[in-house]
Amino acid sequence: MNQFLSRRSFILIPIMSILKFILKPQKALASFAVSKKEWTLSKEEWKKKLTPESYYILREEGTERAFSSPLNNEKRKGIFYCVGCNQPLFKSDTKFDSGTGWPSFWDSIQGSVETKVDFKLIVPRTEYHCSRCGGHQGHVFNDGPLPTGKRYCNNGLALNFIAE
Ligand SMILES: [Zn+2]
Repeated sequence: MNQFLSRRSFILIPIMSILKFILKPQKALASFAVSKKEWTLSKEEWKKKLTPESYYILREEGTERAFSSPLNNEKRKGIFYCVGCNQPLFKSDTKFDSGTGWPSFWDSIQGSVETKVDFKLIVPRTEYHCSRCGGHQGHVFNDGPLPTGKRYCNNGLALNFIAE
């Protein structure tokens, strides 16, 4: 009996932890979709609201070509807003030149983005979305400058910049 039990938990525990890992990101997404009701638009409504390029980034988790966004070279003081819902996401004083060809920031405005893990390139990457409309913005890495050590690698097409 004891032997049977231990063999069973030997099989069950790894399965449980794999399931937990897979289910977690979806749960995070569902929680903000429900709490932000006014931003749960249909596919057609989003298509009307956004340009085809921004729709591809925000709603289909696309990535623009490196060095294609004029915001990559934006150096003025101001705020970067989500192009989907106008929520402020980044301040210009956290922007830095990462050399990657995408607008990069070492911090986001508190509470403005939520993360989930994606496996598109097999190696897991942490993707982040606007916390209000759920629009995909980019990926966050741990090789950024101090004080946070973070690098938010953002699609320019997902942002609106307004200079102060
Ligand atoms: Zn948004």
